[in-house]
Amino acid sequence: MRTRIINAHTLEPASGERQENAWLDIADGRIVDSGVGQPHALVDDVRVIDAAGGTVMPGLVDAHVHILVTSTDAADRENWTPGYATVRALRSAGEMLRRGFTTVRDVGGADYGMARALDEGLVSGPRLIFGGKALSQTGGHGDFRSLNDDSQPCCQLKPDFGRIADGVDAVRHAARDEFRKGAHHLKLVVSGGVASPTDEISAIQYTPEEIRAAVVEAENHNRYVTVHAYHPRAINQALKAGVRCVEHGNLLDDESIRLLVEQDAFLVPTIITYEAMHEVGEASGLSAGSLKKLDEVRTAAVDALERAHRAGVNLVYGSDLLGGLQTRQLDEFTIRGRVQPSLDVIRSATSTAARLLGMEGRIGTLNPGALADLIVLDGDPEHDLAVLTAPERNLRHVIRGGIVADVASAR
Ligand code: ZN
Ligand code: ZN
Repeated sequence: MRTRIINAHTLEPASGERQENAWLDIADGRIVDSGVGQPHALVDDVRVIDAAGGTVMPGLVDAHVHILVTSTDAADRENWTPGYATVRALRSAGEMLRRGFTTVRDVGGADYGMARALDEGLVSGPRLIFGGKALSQTGGHGDFRSLNDDSQPCCQLKPDFGRIADGVDAVRHAARDEFRKGAHHLKLVVSGGVASPTDEISAIQYTPEEIRAAVVEAENHNRYVTVHAYHPRAINQALKAGVRCVEHGNLLDDESIRLLVEQDAFLVPTIITYEAMHEVGEASGLSAGSLKKLDEVRTAAVDALERAHRAGVNLVYGSDLLGGLQTRQLDEFTIRGRVQPSLDVIRSATSTAARLLGMEGRIGTLNPGALADLIVLDGDPEHDLAVLTAPERNLRHVIRGGIVADVASAR
């Protein structure tokens, strides 16, 4: 069955082009035709959606999620079986779709089976672009063993986030293993993190040789490496080793910016997660030590965004929210809108995100031939980003692969 959207005010993010009184035809999961004015008559069965002058734009992309981390209660999570964790994750993915996110990129934990279940429509949710387990060195941001724990992790230290690999050969093997399991990208943690128990934010993790081994494996597989990094020592070392994307980047310096621009690399700031954790304090599940580390990165985050924006770095939308804080997923728009023009913020969650994911022309655009991933809004987000951040008021429809999601009933 075809779906036709009429009376649309379309927004094409890459060019910024707008069209009034436009129509779009959707068939077999794709946008097949579009135009302005009176559409041609259709003979087959067609579902008509009247946008009533509202904005029709590509569905949103969140390029930094952890769909498996649906709770920050670490003790409770110890008792979650993979089945239970997956059901919870897919339910939270469904909530993301109903906020307008038609694609999410998981950077630690999600697997092929979850992406397949979503693609097959077994559950309603966004496209899931996954990287399998994040690679961490021993004692790095992906090593959550307590000081009393001397167990030797071999393959899967944390089913919901990462795996340990030390040394060039082990990194190479882990990379090949994640690509064997269908990973779209490879994630490495290359500097200290907020949630990990013992590593300092300024600590560098992995050597240039280890990072380079991961990059070579990724390039051999036509994939790319993205890294968790805060400190410029870590960011710059990773960029010099050829990584294509940096997550967070809060403490970046001039050299980081120069390398990002020169290499046409991508930066995925995740400022909302620091703000949200800061607001709830201990209730976020963070220890006192982690809350102190949080302040180190939180206060620098907006400045880093500002500098990267001014230099023309490819910026992509990311939220990185864990557990119950995932409800704040749209609030990164508000933070970015204080720094960037709204059209640039919209691009970060559509056309620029599509480039990062290697899905240019397929998502993040309304051009015929693209996947029919789009949202219908009351109001104009280019005029006011708050149109995106209040879906209960403004989000009329979410269409993913041509399937019209039931947005209202789940609220
Ligand atoms: Zn991270
Ligand atoms: Zn993260």
